[in-house]
Amino acid sequence: MVSSNHFSPPSVTIFLSQFGGPADRGSCLSRAALSAQYAAVPLLRNILWLTLAAWLAVGCATTKVEPVAVTEVALPESKPFAVSSQTVDTNALLAVPPSAVARPPTPTNPPSPNLQSAIRNLQSPVAPSTAWVPLANWCVANNLGQPQKIGANQFAAATRGGALVVQAGSQVARWEGTQLWLGYAPRVSKGQALLHWLDIQKTLDPLLHRSAPAPKPGRVLVLDAGHGGADSGTHGTARQLEKHFTLDWALRAEPLLRSNGWTVFLTRTVDQDVPLTNRLALADRVGADLFLSLHFNGLAAQARHSGIETFCLTPAGMPSSVTRGYEDDPRQEFPNNAYDRENLQVAFRLHREVLTATRAADGAVRRARFMGVLRGQRRPAVLIEGGFLSNPEEARRISTAAYRQKLAEALARALP
Ligand SMILES: [Zn+2]
Repeated sequence: MVSSNHFSPPSVTIFLSQFGGPADRGSCLSRAALSAQYAAVPLLRNILWLTLAAWLAVGCATTKVEPVAVTEVALPESKPFAVSSQTVDTNALLAVPPSAVARPPTPTNPPSPNLQSAIRNLQSPVAPSTAWVPLANWCVANNLGQPQKIGANQFAAATRGGALVVQAGSQVARWEGTQLWLGYAPRVSKGQALLHWLDIQKTLDPLLHRSAPAPKPGRVLVLDAGHGGADSGTHGTARQLEKHFTLDWALRAEPLLRSNGWTVFLTRTVDQDVPLTNRLALADRVGADLFLSLHFNGLAAQARHSGIETFCLTPAGMPSSVTRGYEDDPRQEFPNNAYDRENLQVAFRLHREVLTATRAADGAVRRARFMGVLRGQRRPAVLIEGGFLSNPEEARRISTAAYRQKLAEALARALP
């Protein structure tokens, strides 16, 4: 579940890391110290300044600085697809989607000159239609049969492992029976389904061309049991704490993955606080080939919601499927974006195995940009939510050792 331990604060993080977080903390402290000079002024002014100093001090204490580099968005490589009578305009590929244009991000500090120039490029006028590729063209380019219209604005294309089903106007697609979120809802033109170029490149191509993972000697996995210590995560009843279940899941999975040939490191093996930066630092220190974060979900307002959700980082240029109120700037590119392809492939494999093992509802493979535990990773990284503790029936299942053993075995099957 979302918590400050695993999910970075919004825009502040980006710009603190660019402009130096410690300096900002310093300015908070100096402003707090300044208030002491007003000790001799009338009582009302004292109260106002002390209140301001306390507010600033609290703000400093809760500001988490994540040392993640954010770089300019690079244009995707051009590929030889014919788009009706037009050629693909690569400038259009990073067009900010209408929703992002309608609500531009409001950074708390001015962006760096590099980022500023990228923003100017992306906001230049482009013809949106040049970013859209007929699904039929993609099928031809990959030696697949022609897509079929199977319902009102619904299209299916046969892939080697099953069907791709897309619905015009909906970001949710199905790939071989499993749900996943596209960056952009497909469109229909002249009876044909059109998909956004970035979805072709970042979603369809990686899934179509995925191959069975080739075990390599000495591969290293960091298994991250979400939350811990004072951070309990979400919960069902008072005794059904997410932090206990994530740890148990990790401890059960560790020997299974080790027997598969992985060298496994756990971010925690007991109930203790582990800062986000330590979880990232461990993966760097041990030279991890893969980072896997384990969580359970909670939606207090929607107790009936259930199922498995699997996340990886949103590719640059694409809006996220989930933002949870955090800023989501498609222009930002993070270190983990170097692994967009592998991220989706691993996420899809894990998601399917966990669904098969638990027979839980399919909450889809999703992409998010705000998860600090993912975006700073210099290796493929995935976060799995193994069910909803806010759903009493699902919480009851998660509370059983048998269910958590199934979850652990599913990870081992997905990562042979
Ligand atoms: Zn969590």
